[in-house]
Amino acid sequence: MDCLFCKIIAGEIPSYKVYEDDNTFAFLDINPVSQGHTLVIHKQHFSNLEEASEEQLAQTMATVKKIGQSIKDNLGAESYNLVVNNDEAAGQIISHAHFHIIPRERGDGLQPWPQSPYEEGQAEEVVSKFRIL
Ligand code: AMP
Ligand code: ZN
Repeated sequence: MDCLFCKIIAGEIPSYKVYEDDNTFAFLDINPVSQGHTLVIHKQHFSNLEEASEEQLAQTMATVKKIGQSIKDNLGAESYNLVVNNDEAAGQIISHAHFHIIPRERGDGLQPWPQSPYEEGQAEEVVSKFRIL
């Protein structure tokens, strides 16, 4: 399969490795939002979260947690954002699912996406379409 991140896992393309275990791999994003911006991936290729098994997601999230702790402990970052661009419409460019860990500092000036409140009746309409009860 012609996948950049599979090639990084295989060592065919160099990366700045942060962590590796039997199932997961973490490395620096080459074009970081902030210093230490890390990508966490599963070694088995799946392109989005819907294709992943719960076990694969749990393994990936355990690694996210480890890296997040190390960022707080060793990089001096106060916090981090965890971001998944899940499919193209959400901005996913590399089709090997990955979690972005973005170190944050108070007052670093990074702005999340804009938000605005629902209009009258909109929330009820939307939630009725996709809630799982
Ligand atoms: P996404 O838009 O969620 O698919 O993000 C893909 C990310 O991969 C971007 O933030 C890129 O900067 C990053 N990226 C692309 N090529 C490489 C590479 N060779 N090594 C590390 N990160 C990369
Ligand atoms: Zn892949």
